[in-house]
Amino acid sequence: MKKIALITGGSGQDGSYLASFLLKKNYKVVVADRRNSRSDNWRHKYLDIDNMLIYEDFDLSDFDSIFRIFKKYKFSEVYNLAAQSFVKSSFETPISTANVTALGALRILEVIRITQKKTKFYQASSSEMIGNTNSKIQNENSFLNPRSPYAISKVFAHHITKNYRESYGIFACSGILFNHESPLRGEEFVTRKITKGLCEIKLKKRSALELGNLDSKRDWGFAGDYVEGMWKILQQSKPDDFVLATNKSCSIREFINHACKSLNIKIAWKGKGLKEKGIDLSNNKTIIKINSKFYRPSEVHSLKGNYQKAKKILKWRPKTLLKDLVNLMIREDLKRLQKNL
Ligand code: NDP
Ligand code: GDP
Repeated sequence: MKKIALITGGSGQDGSYLASFLLKKNYKVVVADRRNSRSDNWRHKYLDIDNMLIYEDFDLSDFDSIFRIFKKYKFSEVYNLAAQSFVKSSFETPISTANVTALGALRILEVIRITQKKTKFYQASSSEMIGNTNSKIQNENSFLNPRSPYAISKVFAHHITKNYRESYGIFACSGILFNHESPLRGEEFVTRKITKGLCEIKLKKRSALELGNLDSKRDWGFAGDYVEGMWKILQQSKPDDFVLATNKSCSIREFINHACKSLNIKIAWKGKGLKEKGIDLSNNKTIIKINSKFYRPSEVHSLKGNYQKAKKILKWRPKTLLKDLVNLMIREDLKRLQKNL
């Protein structure tokens, strides 16, 4: 009998890589999403898995739609990846963010408690929950000081997952994942905005790219590596929470430098704050500008994750170096732009 896995948000970046990973492990994979999320299905097509998945319409804010799916299948594992996942939007839509990102996890846990207590549950927790911190490197025990409605919603989901584990004996775990990127990352996130924007500049489809705070630092890994960690978390003999990260961190400015190097653009930085500019030394043109509209009302300044627990217990480690990740994203963005995709 094949194991059946449910991936909520299965048309997003992580959901797509996870679906591909689980299919290779011979799972039957049910992707639950809002129908519009998969209108062009570009991520599943990119991974060549669009004909191998079972699609179910649902909305994480709608208890009935979750219940209906659980009546139809008996799941071995549920990966709750659906969320309003963009920090900046969460300041503009805090209530719907909380409804989906916080209460959505509880809705699924309730359905599991009522209908399928043996189903294993994975919650997509985030390093954003740690927020601003005095420690240079963070782990599972770091103090949580979330800085956005998104992060606060993730803290709720994280704690309710632990609470259902402790209260009802449900195999419920959280992966506290630091930022992870790929050619399948949404274009609103800074890494993809940079790789796509710089490729457009290289191909003379745009003159400059506007960004916000270049000083914040993130620990960036490759999404393809992280989905293996998610699966490993649910294969342990007892449920627990794990950090997945690379233990390296760099600023947005440094990420741009990596991307420019990959495109053979020589960039120089001039000015400070809102007046800072990135100049293409080959023609003295400004290719990076700062626009305050991309700043956040409150920022998470620096994140770097310690993944020692995952290394020891899950035997997991990140495999992809940042420079290889940047090269991959640039290569795929160039390809898409050249094909006008
Ligand atoms: P994506 O934004 O790519 O995927 C999230 C998916 O959830 C999208 O398909 C989205 O659909 C769907 N979704 C949003 N709202 C609802 C809803 N109300 N009902 C059903 N589906 C909904 O995120 P990632 O794949 O990058 O991340 C996966 C999870 O991991 C998220 O929960 C994210 O917060 C978390 N996470 C991600 C990190 C990262 O660096 N990538 C780091 C740490 C945690 P639509 O396109 O329609 O909005
Ligand atoms: P996050 O870590 O989940 O918020 O991922 P993002 O990719 O959205 O943002 C990472 C960091 O990049 C944050 O500190 C942002 O403030 C910073 N940043 C700077 N300019 C931009 C921009 O134009 N877009 C986005 N999304 N982030 C930006």
